[in-house]
Amino acid sequence: MNNKKKFSLNKPKKNNTFVWIFFIFVVVFFLIYLFIPTLNNGKSVPISTLIVDLKSNKIKQLTIYQTYATATLKNGTLINSNLGSPTNPTSIFTSNGVNLSKYNNITIAQNPTLSASDIITLIFILVIVLTTWYTVRQFKSAGNGGGIFSMGESKAKLFIGSKQSIKFDGIAGLVEAKEEVFEIVDFLKNPKKYSDLGARIPKGVLLVGPPGTGKTLLAKAIAGESGVSFFSTSGSEFEEMLVGAGASRVRDLFSKARKSSPSIIFIDEIDAVARKRGYSIAGAHTEQTLNQILVEMDGFDTSTNVIVIAATNRPDVLDPALLRPGRFDRTIMLSLPDLEERKSILRLHSKNKPMGKDLDFDKIAKRTIGFSGADLENVLNEAAILTAKKELKTITEVEIEEAATKVVMGPAKKTSRTEDEKKIVSYHEAGHALVSKFLPESDPVHRISIVPRGMSGGATMYLPTQDNYLYTKTKFQTMITHMFGGRAAEKIIFDDITNGASDDIKKASEMARRMVTEFGMSDLIGPIEFGNDEEAGYYGNVEKNYSEETSSIIDKEVSKILNSSYKKALDILSKHKNILDAIASKLIEEEVLEGEDFNKIVDSMLNVG
Ligand code: ATP
Repeated sequence: MNNKKKFSLNKPKKNNTFVWIFFIFVVVFFLIYLFIPTLNNGKSVPISTLIVDLKSNKIKQLTIYQTYATATLKNGTLINSNLGSPTNPTSIFTSNGVNLSKYNNITIAQNPTLSASDIITLIFILVIVLTTWYTVRQFKSAGNGGGIFSMGESKAKLFIGSKQSIKFDGIAGLVEAKEEVFEIVDFLKNPKKYSDLGARIPKGVLLVGPPGTGKTLLAKAIAGESGVSFFSTSGSEFEEMLVGAGASRVRDLFSKARKSSPSIIFIDEIDAVARKRGYSIAGAHTEQTLNQILVEMDGFDTSTNVIVIAATNRPDVLDPALLRPGRFDRTIMLSLPDLEERKSILRLHSKNKPMGKDLDFDKIAKRTIGFSGADLENVLNEAAILTAKKELKTITEVEIEEAATKVVMGPAKKTSRTEDEKKIVSYHEAGHALVSKFLPESDPVHRISIVPRGMSGGATMYLPTQDNYLYTKTKFQTMITHMFGGRAAEKIIFDDITNGASDDIKKASEMARRMVTEFGMSDLIGPIEFGNDEEAGYYGNVEKNYSEETSSIIDKEVSKILNSSYKKALDILSKHKNILDAIASKLIEEEVLEGEDFNKIVDSMLNVG
């Protein structure tokens, strides 16, 4: 259970609600005062005076309302008198000897009230006032309490170290990374031990690795283990509000971290603000943010027990100034988990889930090659949701398999497709699988499915027998060949081709080009790297480091690899068209074919043949 306690670093929010309610009341009363016609603003006189004036013919116009009377004297003076609350206001005049019928300058009227149009105008003004109030409030909360009024304040969240629950045992695998950060934890716990010996501990640690490999988790665990305050923010947060606010946010963040020292500042996605200067798309204000980070880190002295941990999956784009000694001079690489790490991540995240007794973690780990820690956590979570939907009590291999497919390919889609389309997709997928079966370097087929998911109409999944880090030229050619199995099947069966192979063609072309230009796998060209100047090409003006002549040789070599692979796929499928038909029919019928069943069909037909 995560019992970390967060609180905002911004100044405590003042509760302005009462001020606003008071303001709205004032506005309402002011408006009512404006709209209701009241006394004529003249001199207030006793009723006896008014009657005397009337009798002495000094009044030009008299209006008698229910509770008061207003009059304009012949000399232009305005007067008014309170009548109290009489049942009949005219009786006050008649009882004082005034015969009202004698006068033609007297009007008797009801006390004035708001007209319908007055009420509509009043509501309209109130709506404007309330909308303004609401908008200002939203703006403020968007700025985390400070809003537009405190845009320079950092949004870093402070976790009280002692309450930070994540510890190293909450991270599976990453043994080397944990070992590397151990001395940082020790320094934060016992800074004196190091300062007495004049040791300088790293000011900055850069965690590099693909998304979901546990960079944030590791940073939190360092804070958790050492019991220090943890300030977390991300590169993009510095820039999100107003251009130029980044630098002042950095100042604010560092000053707060210093005040809470010993502490850790964690900046996720540092590449958003720390690209090589001069190449950043975002421009000068991003550079200001980066400069400010460098200035702040340079300002640390040996007594500043603040360590900055930054994470990125694009170390290649970072400004070299960031990596100089005294800044982020320690880099820790985190890679996708290997088999053993996947097993331990799966075990860790299944602790709070009812897993079926016969669940084989080794099998799941083998099936999830290329998955990150975050993907694996997601698979178990999806499997739990699926189990709940099915009203089952324990998670079995079936739910894990479905969840793993969903994490990679997206949820199954219910699209209406014609019988012809279904047939084409079935042959296409059967083509991929069957071609791979005849290529010795190919990974075994794990599953063939024609259930549409995400952008794809079907999929053939392979299961590598082990984690591979090195790929041979034959392996690349094998992969390209079975990528073309789908297109080849369409051509053989329908004597026509569809756009269904576009993704296969894209991936195969990319792979073939890398074989030629990066991996030196073309016999004609040899082991030379051809590339584009990344920095110069940052704005899209790709600068080739090779001639036009070489460019055309590269194109020819790429095309040779692709076309020979396609031809090989065509040859395999033409030779085994009967098996292709059998697999495709099975898919049309059942939509999903497991690797074992696929192998059984192929092997039995080969033996018969
Ligand atoms: P990003 O680059 O996308 O920010 P990240 O590398 O920071 O990703 P985390 O946010 O640390 O990845 O990991 C996401 C989730 O994945 C974690 O909360 C955790 O559930 C799970 N996870 C990743 N790696 C591990 C691991 N080694 N052990 C246990 N859980 C892990």
